[in-house]
Amino acid sequence: MKDIYFTTPIYYVNAEPHIGHAYTTIVADVLNRFYKLAGYQTFFLTGTDEHGDKVAQAARAAGETPQAYADRISNLFRMLWPTLNITHDRFIRTTEEAHKRVVQLILQKVYDAGDIYFGEYGGHYCRGCERFLTEKELTDAKCPDHGTEPQFIMEKNYFFRMSKYQDWLIDHIKSHPDFIRPERYRNEVLAFLQDPLEDLCISRPKSRLLWGIPLPFDGDYVTYVWFDALINYLTGVDYPDGQRFGKFWPVCQHLIAKDILKPHGIYWPTMLKAAGIPLYHHLNVHGYWIVSESKMSKSRGNIVKPLELMDKYGLDAFRYFLLREMAFGLDSTFSESALIGRINADLANDLGNLVSRTLTMAELYLQGEIPRAGALEEKDRELGAFALQTAEETERRFGELSFHRALILIWELINLANKYIDGMAPWTLAKDPGQAERLHAVLYQLLEVLRFIAVLISPFMPRTAEKIQTQLGIADFSGQILASLKEWGGLAPGGKVRKGEALFPRIEEKPKGEKKEKMETPPLITMEEFQKMDLRVGKVLAAENIKKSDKLLKLRVDIGEERTVVAGIARHYKPEDLVGKTIILLANLQPTKLMGVESQGMLLAAEGADGVIVATFDKEAKAGSKVR
Ligand SMILES: [Zn+2]
Repeated sequence: MKDIYFTTPIYYVNAEPHIGHAYTTIVADVLNRFYKLAGYQTFFLTGTDEHGDKVAQAARAAGETPQAYADRISNLFRMLWPTLNITHDRFIRTTEEAHKRVVQLILQKVYDAGDIYFGEYGGHYCRGCERFLTEKELTDAKCPDHGTEPQFIMEKNYFFRMSKYQDWLIDHIKSHPDFIRPERYRNEVLAFLQDPLEDLCISRPKSRLLWGIPLPFDGDYVTYVWFDALINYLTGVDYPDGQRFGKFWPVCQHLIAKDILKPHGIYWPTMLKAAGIPLYHHLNVHGYWIVSESKMSKSRGNIVKPLELMDKYGLDAFRYFLLREMAFGLDSTFSESALIGRINADLANDLGNLVSRTLTMAELYLQGEIPRAGALEEKDRELGAFALQTAEETERRFGELSFHRALILIWELINLANKYIDGMAPWTLAKDPGQAERLHAVLYQLLEVLRFIAVLISPFMPRTAEKIQTQLGIADFSGQILASLKEWGGLAPGGKVRKGEALFPRIEEKPKGEKKEKMETPPLITMEEFQKMDLRVGKVLAAENIKKSDKLLKLRVDIGEERTVVAGIARHYKPEDLVGKTIILLANLQPTKLMGVESQGMLLAAEGADGVIVATFDKEAKAGSKVR
């Protein structure tokens, strides 16, 4: 059995969880679930980073001890993950005794190897960054990230000989092209390594900071928080001699946001090298979510809290949106309207309709019994082949962290299945007893496609996948793994399906103060029904206001014959503006009397940005000719 190990950063407890934390952790969860489906043994680690200056400061500000403060915020993260349906195996805290021991063990190892030395250093210390900034990093003598002027501190500290490993690290990155991925971040690290790498200050004197892990070789100092934090990835799998360490460390996949690229791409590999520990397998780096404020939230004076939108629109929709919207590695924008757009189009319309139409037909035409497929036609086989190919491709996309592409592929399958329904028209087959075998074949293909889709979306939307599987009569989900998608026909005939509630009800967007835009799709009509409408090109011969009405205009229109038409457009058009215009008239509408005038037809118009606009032609059209 193959193994794989996923880590998120351990989140710093100086602030509450936000969308960035949620995204990284959901990505790790999607990967973890996917590789389980693919038959791997997985280990998934997340947790909190609890030492350091900023935590001590935040605790002071909150009037708490650092430990009490860390306990409280760490708990917010711990409580959040179940609500996001995260399946981590371990939640690590850097204040755990086990972790302190591992940090001290590694410090001692590196110290004994001669790669930690004591020295004096004067530097620009940014409290926000919790590190010394180099001259080069300053912008107008300020920290570019925090906009504050760093404090010049001169003190004796311990240093890790990071510079010694610069050439080795460059070689490693060059000879392992996907060590850091996507490529842009690999290039960023290589660019940084073009300048001489400085040694890393890894201690803080207790006179300045008490909240940290004491150095094993000097009780007057505590460990710099980054040196402490990175080591959690080893503690998490029971370094040095736990079984998990041997099994999972060589297949470690770190997931981080780009703001912590440098510690993970430079400090961490050199630390591991110095401690004689093999490197992690991949560092996977994603971009930022830019939270866009809608007009709505601005006028109300509150900012969009994505995690609140998760409560509002549902977890699976939220997980789907995050993975579908962001190309892993690039920045992406989060907005409520984009989320609603995805829910309505992809989830309610494409996926929701496919499930609901298929199950409805299975109940209606087959009393809910899964049929035998029987003889297949070319279109049936095409659908099956496409599903098999989609399953294979999805696995490839996961290998390259292209989650949005994986979802695009799965949605191609969903759309193909929807088209297949339209093309096969099972409702017509159902009317003809001679077509029973065809009907069975078509509905079997559709039910089996739903089985494929449920497995493929399950890492992204686990609850939705289970709902679909339950509707398909699958009681035991454990067999629904990728291996079951290597062959077509896994759904056993004779089983019972049962339609459930709509998976994703459509969301009506009702911005406050704005007119509600209702775009419900009306029921479909036949060509015959459409052709009942006598739509004709009309030329406006004359127009006048109707007395006692500020809305209505009376028009005389030539449609091959002359008609009198009353139109409610007086607020938007002056009579003289209409004369000579070529319009579209519904000529066979039952006449009605408005303000004493009989209207013999209705002209077509639309709601424009500044009021009603009359539909016209963009080239000359002959009065009286038919519009079709
Ligand atoms: Zn800073």
